[in-house]
Amino acid sequence: MTYDYIIVGQGVAGTFLSWQLLQAGKTVLVIDEAKPFTASKVASGVINPVTGRRIVRTWMIETLLPFALDAYTILGEQLGVNLIEQINILDFHPTPQMMLAFKERLPVESDYLRVPTNEAAYQQYFSVTFGIGEINPCYLVDLRTMIVVWRNYLKAQNALLETTFNIDELKTQNLELITYNGYNAKAIIFADGAAGSDNPYFYLLPYAKNKGQAIIAEIPDLPRTNIYKQGITLVPWQDNLWWIGSTYEWDFKDLEPSVDFRNKVESQLKHWLKLPYKIVDHFASERPANLERRPFVGMHPVHTNIGVFNGMGTKGCSLSPYFAKQFTDALVHQAAINPLADVKRFTKILSR
Ligand SMILES: Cc1cc2nc3c(=O)[nH]c(=O)nc-3n(C[C@H](O)[C@H](O)[C@H](O)COP(=O)(O)OP(=O)(O)OC[C@H]3O[C@@H](n4cnc5c(N)ncnc54)[C@H](O)[C@@H]3O)c2cc1C
Repeated sequence: MTYDYIIVGQGVAGTFLSWQLLQAGKTVLVIDEAKPFTASKVASGVINPVTGRRIVRTWMIETLLPFALDAYTILGEQLGVNLIEQINILDFHPTPQMMLAFKERLPVESDYLRVPTNEAAYQQYFSVTFGIGEINPCYLVDLRTMIVVWRNYLKAQNALLETTFNIDELKTQNLELITYNGYNAKAIIFADGAAGSDNPYFYLLPYAKNKGQAIIAEIPDLPRTNIYKQGITLVPWQDNLWWIGSTYEWDFKDLEPSVDFRNKVESQLKHWLKLPYKIVDHFASERPANLERRPFVGMHPVHTNIGVFNGMGTKGCSLSPYFAKQFTDALVHQAAINPLADVKRFTKILSR
């Protein structure tokens, strides 16, 4: 069987790329191993338009956010599930300095920052020492449902191979047709997340993977109307549970959950949360981050039938829908990819 594209990886990146290519009338074969703790499976799924201690808006958010909202809504409708909802962040200022910083940013970022009108209502749940700011609108994506339901859809179309892709089996000599274990395609695209930093075609890209941990807890009496943040973030999770995270660890030896992180979360909850809670799970994964904090999108400058869709870093939920469409338009209509995301910016490095 010959496909237009083989895509390696079905995280949020591979999901959107395969969806867009199918929408454009192309045939795809997605190859993905069933690993439990990939970045997309452990991510909280938040799209937050402003981040960091300086509370600045994130790159291209005015374009990425409305695009993502549409894309998750349409994909969800196609699959018969709800994949996105607006859930705003209540940002509990941890220090007087952070409270002042938020107040200073309020008039500048009035599209996204507010002071909640009902601050007193949260005092029964949390210790509120320096006030609360609201980030609005924020969105919560149900990545786990999306991955499972899209996987089932691909399976039903005979478009999914649930196995570990072995690059030694890839035959690329014929520029018109690549072959993998008896499957042919015009091109192959790697949406392989953190594994991409070991990919022989793309390992020279400036990946800077980081480890992130999350704890899953029962907090039965906490209203699921918001995401709550004070150093750690509490995000509504499936089955009435809460996702609590995270870390950004650049120097790590393994992907195991650490006692340190659990202790940090417990100590933070002790000071902040007034409700009883019970920890039920704890996991970790690697973010496919990179030094430039911009995605890697496009075909290899030398091996022109081998492509990459990676480098989503901490923002896979907002970057993947938009850049999957740009990549598809580039493949199908030779449209331009944003030069800041186009992997052509690394032509020199990749041509070595
Ligand atoms: C704790 C944590 C919290 C996060 N929270 C958020 C958040 O709130 N919002 C946000 O936008 N982002 C968040 N992120 C970042 C987000 O998870 C990533 O940007 C995104 O998931 C990357 O998606 P991906 O598809 O590129 O990679 P992945 O999700 O890693 O997907 C890659 C896929 O490729 C498969 N694969 C790799 N190699 C092979 C192979 N050889 N054979 C077969 N299959 C292979 C893997 O099994 C996997 O399924 C978070 C990350 C972490 C770790």
